[in-house]
Amino acid sequence: MTFASLGLIEPLLRALETLGYQTPTPVQAQAIPAVLAGRDLMAAAQTGTGKTAGFALPLLQLLTMEGPKVAANSARALILCPTRELAEQVHTSVAEYAQHLPLTTYAVYGGVSINPQMMKLRKGVDILVATPGRLIDLFRQNALKLNQLQTLVLDEADRMLDLGFSEELANIYRMLPKKRQTLLFSATFSDDIRLLAGQMLNDPLSIEVSPRNVAANTVKQWVVPVDKKRKAELFVHLMRKGRWKQVLVFAKTRNGVDALVDKLQGLGINADGIHGDKPQATRQRALDRFKASDVQILVATDVAARGLDIEDLPLVVNFDLPIVAEDYIHRIGRTGRAGNTGEAISLVCADEVNMLSAIEMLTRQTLTRKMEPDFEPEHRVPDTDASGQVVKKPKKPKKPKTSGGGGKRNLGKWVDSGDAAPAEPSIKPVRKVPVFNTGPRKKK
Ligand code: AMP
Repeated sequence: MTFASLGLIEPLLRALETLGYQTPTPVQAQAIPAVLAGRDLMAAAQTGTGKTAGFALPLLQLLTMEGPKVAANSARALILCPTRELAEQVHTSVAEYAQHLPLTTYAVYGGVSINPQMMKLRKGVDILVATPGRLIDLFRQNALKLNQLQTLVLDEADRMLDLGFSEELANIYRMLPKKRQTLLFSATFSDDIRLLAGQMLNDPLSIEVSPRNVAANTVKQWVVPVDKKRKAELFVHLMRKGRWKQVLVFAKTRNGVDALVDKLQGLGINADGIHGDKPQATRQRALDRFKASDVQILVATDVAARGLDIEDLPLVVNFDLPIVAEDYIHRIGRTGRAGNTGEAISLVCADEVNMLSAIEMLTRQTLTRKMEPDFEPEHRVPDTDASGQVVKKPKKPKKPKTSGGGGKRNLGKWVDSGDAAPAEPSIKPVRKVPVFNTGPRKKK
């Protein structure tokens, strides 16, 4: 199959040739004709599957072939992304695909001054990539009108809900014209997402290019059991032993990121960190330097690292397991992208056994454990498997049973007593679903 056989116009084919894309990926093969035909889309596609081009190429074509010229302070298509970095990355791809088309593109997000964004929007832009909060600010300040909007794309919709953007999405929904095309992309499909899709989409075509909730099989994954207090030491040991060159490391908290970066830098290792507390410019600089291989180890929280596309990233290390099991899939999806192979190593301590168990259940696999000599944990990590079982040693003496059924595990979310503070304050522990009360959508 070729891109030309999917019906794409010549200026897009030319851009793809420059980028070296020869064959459409499965998500592109399914999404491109459907979007060109005007269908709404609900696509389950993992990161690294080429989903950005899957929605951007037909979107660009439709905007070129149909619809009026963009009006002042307007946008004809809106792509909503959960994080600033992802917005920037999606915009870069869109601009590359649009290089031979007479369309304007722009990205807006928080953490940077709003005034230049307001100026830029004065003339209107054909495609606007935005994070939800900044989009609403711009709308409220009358810098942006959405009555000309033809297409809405929700990228990484599951993550937007995880990050607590449900209210923002409900607000944005009220700002949109009823007659529009809507494309929803999500790496994983929870019931909340299906509910959101039911409200936002009109007779959508469902696309699923990889089995639900299964991690990319191009990524070799394993676990190294270790005591919590020895994780940093083990990381340095494995790094030296494996001669790691470029590693993306995930830590659970902002403090965890800073502590590991300090420790690595103290050892003369070329490391930097990104998390939600850092100014946007600093985050972007660290990321750019990592992508350019000027930084060897980038330590990140989930919120900062979501959706990043780093070419040929060979290795992801989970210094801590994620609080939300689905994030494991997103994290390891940073490697093994676009057909490359990658490795994902998780350093797991006894405290994290429930998280490990939920990840194994979600990804339907029992992760191989590799004990590292001299780092065998004093606090054993109980056995787990893909059935969600945690094999605990019987406790002695046995206490009488109390009511309340403690120790319940909620797949994908942990609200343990010792875990009251979420990894990033911006992550709300309970996922809410927006309530849309604007009545049923009119048929197109
Ligand atoms: P995405 O899943 O959209 O983040 O894309 C992952 C990576 O795959 C990006 O670096 C894209 O540039 C690349 N890519 C997307 N589609 C293709 C294709 N058809 N052929 C080769 N590379 C692609």
